[in-house]
Amino acid sequence: TGTSTMTGTGSTTTEAGITEAFKADSFDKKINLGVGAYRDDKGKPYVLPSVKTAEQKVVSAGLNKEYAGITGVPDFTKAAAQLAYGKDSSALDRLTITQSISGTGALRIGAAFLERFYPGDKTIYIPTPSWANHKAVFNDAGLKVKQYSYYDKKTIGLDFDGMLSDIKAAPKGSIFLFHACAHNPTGVDPTEEQWKEISEAVKAQDHYAFFDMAYQGFASGNTDKDAFAVRYFVQQGHNICLAQSFAKNMGLYGERVGAFSIVAASAEEKKRIDSQIKILVRPLYSNPPIHGARIASEILNNPALYEQWLAEVKEMADRIITMRALLKDNLEKLGSKHDWSHITSQIGMFAYTGLDASQMDQLAQEHSVYATKDGRISVAGITTENVGRLAEAIYKVKG
Ligand code: PLP
Repeated sequence: TGTSTMTGTGSTTTEAGITEAFKADSFDKKINLGVGAYRDDKGKPYVLPSVKTAEQKVVSAGLNKEYAGITGVPDFTKAAAQLAYGKDSSALDRLTITQSISGTGALRIGAAFLERFYPGDKTIYIPTPSWANHKAVFNDAGLKVKQYSYYDKKTIGLDFDGMLSDIKAAPKGSIFLFHACAHNPTGVDPTEEQWKEISEAVKAQDHYAFFDMAYQGFASGNTDKDAFAVRYFVQQGHNICLAQSFAKNMGLYGERVGAFSIVAASAEEKKRIDSQIKILVRPLYSNPPIHGARIASEILNNPALYEQWLAEVKEMADRIITMRALLKDNLEKLGSKHDWSHITSQIGMFAYTGLDASQMDQLAQEHSVYATKDGRISVAGITTENVGRLAEAIYKVKG
């Protein structure tokens, strides 16, 4: 099978490293499962039809290219808030929201705001493991970063008890970062019942919840379901803050469309936060880019395009869910004795296979299957054509 001619020493840790090793491999059936972006069933990048239509509308409207205000395109941020919090949310009247350079920029604005104004200890707790960039974003903005238990290697699932006890053990008034849905890199999310207990524990300790929602709609295929944790926390009286990204759910990756919002305690507090956010953003980048935000705004505010987009998000999520099931089926058909149920119980673009670093090396060197050493595979890189060969490779390495 594997006729890898890669020059490196096997699978690497970074996405860039994987892409390089993948490119250097001349085997025509090589598989790249390191990419953090959606691919269609032919393995190609995908521009959503709703995005194409919205972009044409934006272009043919012949708008000028004047600057947006500091907080971005108002029609976009208003609709983004409704998408996240729900149209009837009590938070909307006391919400400060600003457009951001996608999800990363939203996290960075949030971190800078907390560094400047958070009254308690400026330490943020992130899950173990978390998206590789979280620690750097928060550290660079001047927050201390600690970690809470999240992933259980033994069950390849959630270490719920460990997570709760770490929330309870953290000093009162700490900041906790939660992945709203489709946890990256593990694909392991708390259930709705577990979120309720997490909310209680956060409240009992007077902690502050910061949600990172990079995959709304992409996890379950339903944007409301994926916003459950965010909306439940707000209902329970948590004045959360939230980073939103439209990279994955609209496929707007390089357009850098996102939003950062804070639920204020009152309309009066909201006014003060509005003004502080402007003071904070102005010296960072003055104002955000307009093109991607106009596209997202067109989709969110045009009822027909919005319905179309919801169906397209579901289609992407469903393809991922189908590939998970196919991979598990193929492994079982090959006679694997391992329990692969985590492949289908995990959610979102990524799956934790439970393979260790040396097994991942073997996948790369002997089978031309490339992914990070931590055993994470991007399910978006699986297709109906390559899933059979992928299952065989995993079976040969892991049994
Ligand atoms: N947060 C998480 C958990 C992510 O996985 C990502 C992207 O992979 C982001 C935030 C930010 O992505 P972007 O800045 O492209 O919106």
